[in-house]
Amino acid sequence: MSTWTTAQIDVIREVGYKGVQAVHDAILERYGVEHSLHAIESQASRVSASLKVRTECPSCHAVGVRINRQSGLCRRCTIQEHVDEEQAFNDVLEAEAAGCDDGPEIDELERKWAQLRQKNSRLMRKHNLKGKRERL
Ligand SMILES: [Zn+2]
Repeated sequence: MSTWTTAQIDVIREVGYKGVQAVHDAILERYGVEHSLHAIESQASRVSASLKVRTECPSCHAVGVRINRQSGLCRRCTIQEHVDEEQAFNDVLEAEAAGCDDGPEIDELERKWAQLRQKNSRLMRKHNLKGKRERL
């Protein structure tokens, strides 16, 4: 049986909520020491640390929360996702609605209209052509 360092015991407290295998892997990865799963369980009970697997929200990392099956996130993060999505849609709608009254698209159309009117009146003057009203 290998000895335990304080740092390794801290890993039990830190990662314990992910279960005994996660503690095993974390200690092996960080300290290159392999404790058996049984040794980890004994050590955990000795220092009164829990190895009970608890859920963790992958987004906010809250532990022991209920995970929404559809989103895979906790309730708050799920709602936050809805809010972000709705906000993005609102941005699109606001931009579209604003575009009906003013905006670069309308400025461009007005410029084009003015250019065409000028061009047409020049053509009418030059070639003595009938204007729009005279044609009705
Ligand atoms: Zn969350």
